[in-house]
Amino acid sequence: MEMRIGLGHDVHRLVAGRSLILGGVPIEYDRGLLGHSDADVLLHALTDALLGAGGLGDIGERFPNTEPRWADADSALFLNDAVSAIHKAGWNIANIDCTLFAERPRLTPYKPAIRQRLAELLEIDENLVNVKAKSGEQVGPVGREEAISADAIVLLVRD
Ligand code: MG
Repeated sequence: MEMRIGLGHDVHRLVAGRSLILGGVPIEYDRGLLGHSDADVLLHALTDALLGAGGLGDIGERFPNTEPRWADADSALFLNDAVSAIHKAGWNIANIDCTLFAERPRLTPYKPAIRQRLAELLEIDENLVNVKAKSGEQVGPVGREEAISADAIVLLVRD
């Protein structure tokens, strides 16, 4: 069976005056992530993982952050584009795994909603999606509550 694997990583700074959206799910918190779009680190990491597996470049090439039309964009748009691109290239998603790194807020209560939303956006069954959350152990930009980051990995199989 023909397979491809792809990896994605992203980080955004936590700032006041922005909404926090992770994996397409609004999170209750007094700060949000700074970015040109809605700065959803998890959807960005996942988009890059899909594009990487498909050999289709990266999110920055397809959606430059200098482009005014992507200002405050819903990052689901980027993920939808990547999903369409890999389908068009003849690939299906076998499974995805991802990790969110945040000191605060605690994301454990949001994991089921994020998992459900990712499955919906990826057009796959929820049991093919795994969402993990970790703290930053009080070290580094995540641990100091300056940033939230995300890793994602995806396996594609030929349809
Ligand atoms: Mg990003």
